[in-house]
Amino acid sequence: MVRPRKIFAQHWLKSEKALDAIVKAAECKEGDRILEIGPGTGILTRRLLPLVKSLVAVEIDFDLCKLLAKQLGKTENFLLLQGDFLTLDLASHLAAFTNFQQQNKVVANIPYNITGPILEKLLGTITNPNPQPFDSIVLLVQKEVAERLYAHPGSKAFGALSVRVQYLAKCEFICSVPAAAFQPPPKVDSAVVRLRPQTIEIPARDPRKLENLVKLGFSAKRKMLRNNLQPLIDRDRLTQLLEQLEINPQVRAEDLSVNQWVTLTNLLTLE
Ligand code: SAH
Repeated sequence: MVRPRKIFAQHWLKSEKALDAIVKAAECKEGDRILEIGPGTGILTRRLLPLVKSLVAVEIDFDLCKLLAKQLGKTENFLLLQGDFLTLDLASHLAAFTNFQQQNKVVANIPYNITGPILEKLLGTITNPNPQPFDSIVLLVQKEVAERLYAHPGSKAFGALSVRVQYLAKCEFICSVPAAAFQPPPKVDSAVVRLRPQTIEIPARDPRKLENLVKLGFSAKRKMLRNNLQPLIDRDRLTQLLEQLEINPQVRAEDLSVNQWVTLTNLLTLE
């Protein structure tokens, strides 16, 4: 067993059940080209490789890379890149490898300390969505984050992250994974989620405005939306607009669905 390093948020997944669930959720097809972030000791990588056309893994830990290269280096459909996924320019690294371009799926047990930035790099943002979206993204994440990703409006977990991610992708809960499924166990429980990037039916006319409204709307928890948005929109005007949309003017940010956020933004954009 390789000694896990704290600075890289290393927790080796050891549960067969969890590994099975991740692989099943990825719905691997022969033609799939997979991107894996943080392969670690390669426990998930080894399961995926026989099922797909190719797999590119990005691992930051140099020592682990040496080990993986030794064990899997001869596997034809496997390419390992050593580096920080967040700053790595994947396209330019892959330019020389014709068999390893344009991954269509992501499957990973990611380092939890950089979940937000990883999601942003995979999906892009409301103003700047990833122009080459993946077919699906299956991730093992901290349970609390998972709950925010697939939360429904009106629930406690529904926050700015929910709106930002759900604007760009459909999010599904796959299964819970207890802390004991890892070595060493992390402090929190985990869950497998699947995101399917998609263009929203009615997009925001002014995506920057939507981003600003969401940020401000959720800035103070439990407050009414019209109070939080006051710096941007006059309270009475917002009350009118909400009534026009048949939304209770006393709503809080977490009560609006993603579509309602967009509709509200679009009404304001026309003004
Ligand atoms: N997939 C493995 C390891 C998960 S732990 C398993 O399931 O057992 C998270 C992994 O991400 C570790 O291998 C860690 O070294 C790697 N990692 C951490 N930060 C990273 C980064 N910025 N870029 C790429 N890999 C990273």
